[in-house]
Amino acid sequence: MIVGVLGGGQLGRMLALAGYPLGMRFRFFDTAADAVAGHVAPLAVGRFDDLAALDRFADGLDVVTYEFENVPVEAARHLAQRVPVWPPPEALEASQDRLAEKTLFSRLGVPTTRFAAVDAAADLPRALDAVGSPAVLKTRRLGYDGKGQAVVRTLPEAEAALARFAGAPAIAEEFVRFDREVSMIAARGRGETAFYPLVENEHREGILRVSRAPAAGGGAESIARRHASAIMDAVGYRGVLTVEFFDRGGTLLANEIAPRVHNSGHWTIEGAACSQFENHLRAVAGLPLGNSAALAHAGMVNILGTMPDAARLLAMPCHVHLYGKEPRPGRKLGHATVIRESAATRDAAAEQVRAFLES
Ligand code: AMP
Repeated sequence: MIVGVLGGGQLGRMLALAGYPLGMRFRFFDTAADAVAGHVAPLAVGRFDDLAALDRFADGLDVVTYEFENVPVEAARHLAQRVPVWPPPEALEASQDRLAEKTLFSRLGVPTTRFAAVDAAADLPRALDAVGSPAVLKTRRLGYDGKGQAVVRTLPEAEAALARFAGAPAIAEEFVRFDREVSMIAARGRGETAFYPLVENEHREGILRVSRAPAAGGGAESIARRHASAIMDAVGYRGVLTVEFFDRGGTLLANEIAPRVHNSGHWTIEGAACSQFENHLRAVAGLPLGNSAALAHAGMVNILGTMPDAARLLAMPCHVHLYGKEPRPGRKLGHATVIRESAATRDAAAEQVRAFLES
């Protein structure tokens, strides 16, 4: 089985590493010649609007999937004429546009933040009225890791933020005073679904810093499973789907979906019986899903921006993953996972790793 992956970043690289024990082979497509999945499998470099390049890439593939959600939907649809593409391009499309995403949540009865479309500055007064103050103004498309968003309190602030978006269509959201952020990672194969335990996520400046699983409190997990199922049902899903939520007083407000493996699921490599990466591959290949149960309490700390002293990090009691990327401010360069018998010892170990990485 040869799996084609659109995007060649660290998620793709970890997909390949999970697929090799299953006898799978991989081929990646990325716009960047230095995409790090190219270290572990053949990398085709091209533009996503170059249909001839996509056709050459598709030749001989058994299935195509993606490892980042900004793959142009037209590229996925084009490939789908020749080879099965999972998750379905409809899910990709919804995940690319914050307005379409939140409209989908609302249609399915999945609670989400109050939101309003902002196509132009003239829409701002009504939008701010609808969502209240403070509001979060975000570009509808191509925002990630906190990029393309601003917290605004007044109309002039909102106008200034919109001007910085340089005419890109936007969405206004209520600023949610949440108790915590959690994510549900679910894998759907041919009809069967495997849910990972709910993950608790700590972000700073819009970037994920630490994930802890299983999250405390069982009630939220069953709600999150229900919401993820509703979304997967609606688009005929196959693959791993991630849904990020704000937990406000036990109500889960869906913030966004990712039709792919997710940073908040990296702990599953050592912390679950079958990782998110392996289950994504099993799902898109139409194979039986693996066990998504947690083996213990896992904590994952991202390595961001600068490379730590590798020898010192490797001397710590954690699992180290380095992606082979060039350091750059804010860039995800790797992660470290701790696995412990209790939530308390897990939290202490994760804190120790984080303190070292931030020192
Ligand atoms: P996003 O790009 O939507 O995932 O946002 C990145 C991070 O910014 C989230 O994980 C939150 O920590 C924060 N954030 C985004 N939207 C909101 C909101 N409406 N209210 C409060 N915090 C938010």
